[in-house]
Amino acid sequence: MSIAISGIGISRGIAIGAVQRLEQGEIEVYEAAIPGALIEEEISRFRRAVRTARQQLKAIRNSIPETTTADITDFIDTHLLMLEDSMLTATPVELIRQHQCNAEWALKIQRDALAQVFDEMDDPYLRTRKDDVDHVVNRILRILTGRDTHADPLDDDQLRGAIVIAHDLTPAETALLHHQGIAGFITESGGPLSHTAILARSLGLPAIVGTHTTPHQIRDGDNVILDASRGVLLADLDAATLRDYRRQQRQQQKYRSELKHLKDEPAITLDGTRMHLVANVELREDVLAARRAGAEGIGLYRTEFLFMNRTDIPDEEEQLQQYLSVVKTLKGLPVTIRTLDLGSDKECGAEPAREHTPVNPALGLRAIRLCLKHADLFRPQLRAILRASAKGPVRMMIPMLSSAHELDTVLALIDDVKQELQRERLAFDLHIPVGGMIEVPAAALSASLFARKLDFLSIGTNDLIQYTLAIDRVDDEVTYLYDPLHPAVLRLVKMVIDAGRQYHTPIAMCGEMAGDTRYTRLLLGMGLTEFSVHPTALLEIKDTIIHSRVADFHTQVDGILQDDEPAAIIERLDALNKM
Ligand code: PEP
Ligand code: MG
Repeated sequence: MSIAISGIGISRGIAIGAVQRLEQGEIEVYEAAIPGALIEEEISRFRRAVRTARQQLKAIRNSIPETTTADITDFIDTHLLMLEDSMLTATPVELIRQHQCNAEWALKIQRDALAQVFDEMDDPYLRTRKDDVDHVVNRILRILTGRDTHADPLDDDQLRGAIVIAHDLTPAETALLHHQGIAGFITESGGPLSHTAILARSLGLPAIVGTHTTPHQIRDGDNVILDASRGVLLADLDAATLRDYRRQQRQQQKYRSELKHLKDEPAITLDGTRMHLVANVELREDVLAARRAGAEGIGLYRTEFLFMNRTDIPDEEEQLQQYLSVVKTLKGLPVTIRTLDLGSDKECGAEPAREHTPVNPALGLRAIRLCLKHADLFRPQLRAILRASAKGPVRMMIPMLSSAHELDTVLALIDDVKQELQRERLAFDLHIPVGGMIEVPAAALSASLFARKLDFLSIGTNDLIQYTLAIDRVDDEVTYLYDPLHPAVLRLVKMVIDAGRQYHTPIAMCGEMAGDTRYTRLLLGMGLTEFSVHPTALLEIKDTIIHSRVADFHTQVDGILQDDEPAAIIERLDALNKM
């Protein structure tokens, strides 16, 4: 009898290999007295461990592909910076001297002291810094205690081709395991929108998260199949299942290498409709990856990433230089710059002080709400975006709009900033297109209002699903409810597309749903013409588009939109995808 473990498939593909469980959890540390004569030797042992940790992180940093989103490399850079900081390098040395103790114990004393400092702060951003300290300390401790199974990233036969099972993985660990040649991984915790999930997708690593448990019957060395598309790991396999999966795996590999030919092909359906395929990027560096994948421009530039992992706020000039360099890299292709979407899970060190800690940050002062309250944060960004528009095709996009009053206030503010720039004789595109994201059910239900007043709209399904289904997108206990095919979600998406048609306002989709080929034909049938997706998903979406005759989809798509039964919706979707 085969064993199946289900979780959330966060990437695509099939991996077949032997299980390797990663020993994780708290590393137990004991105090040992070190005789005075051996103190310097102990200090050298500690310094060597820090050096090794640094080398490991640099090896990870160098192994990350260029196409990886920059927040992942920033994450590793933060850990590298911590390894340069005296709090983790000099203080433990002083503690070894002071307590005449072993390096592990000194590091533990310092970690506990830092943890206490972080615990006394209730700022969520700083709490994530505490996790970073833990990751770095654990890395050094693993090296010191000889439990470092990842010491040599290239020479670990146990991991090559393995399916790793872990309780949780940091992005840095994920990158290292990829470097060591693992075939895929599953973790008991984690959600589809975590940094680890984003990294697994960019690395093309089949992975499942949030399995909660992994049965003890599955042991190291057992042969298993990881089917990331279905979010399932199969063990105790029979020969026929294994053969079938090997065949599917070969087909998938062949398909991926064939896709490269599509890079410069236009995305035209079989019945002649031209679709627009643009990319989502976080930082300037990602723009090259987008161009390499053949994107026709940037449909979502998440500018808040420029504000993260630092303690100051980038001023107008710094923002302008960033935006200009994106414009330059794009060589005439358009870029949609989204104004700051801070708040909720996206915190930055220099965020304005809050009157209170929000109980429900996703429903609180985030995105455009935060910007309208803090003109000192918002105006410099508006000025920088407008000034960048003098040098190339720039569009401005406002996140999380929910009401007419909010929209009118933003538009008035943009006008005011334009007048200010005119008075200062600073150049900008007077007709810069201004669009909005439809991420809140209220905005989708009143989409015609937004379609009338804005130059374009983009559907942010990540948040639209979160708010429609009342599920916190970063809470792994409710990710099982995340469902782009929920009738309520589909009907809201359709309403937005129809409002766009009525007012001749272009509608794009930039949430994760747009980058998942399972939904491409459904979205085409619903009338979507612009898809903004992660650069690694672009060619697959294009391939689906060029093999689609949209005129044939109407019966199935209408059926899906009218149906309420999840099983019937999935059946119809499968039929649509097989046409
Ligand atoms: C979305 O909500 O779908 C979106 C694209 O924005 P973000 O993921 O940055 O919230
Ligand atoms: Mg969003």
